[in-house]
Amino acid sequence: MGLEVNPLCRLCESDIETKSHLFFCCPYSIEVWQHILQLCRIARSVSGWDVEFRWEVASLMGKSLIIFILKLAWSSYIYFIWEERNSRQFLTLLGGRILFLKIFNILCRFDLNINI
Ligand SMILES: [Zn+2]
Repeated sequence: MGLEVNPLCRLCESDIETKSHLFFCCPYSIEVWQHILQLCRIARSVSGWDVEFRWEVASLMGKSLIIFILKLAWSSYIYFIWEERNSRQFLTLLGGRILFLKIFNILCRFDLNINI
């Protein structure tokens, strides 16, 4: 007797949920991360967790305001995806979209000129 857990991704319901799938391979997550990258004026394609994490570690060093904003965007994105997943898993709400719109609005206030 155990708890049955649905192995499918809660965001797309079409693939097994893994860390890499959830954050950077799921169509839903890719769309969100691409929007954030576009808001930050960063042109790059989205890859799996390992590639994205290595990019983040290598690119977001320093203490400038732009780097601070990019770190904030990265952290907010990870938090947003995890919250959205948990909302769908446990609350069956789509509240994460509201959080994404808040992140989107904050990033739109900055005129980012980034060369990474
Ligand atoms: Zn998915």
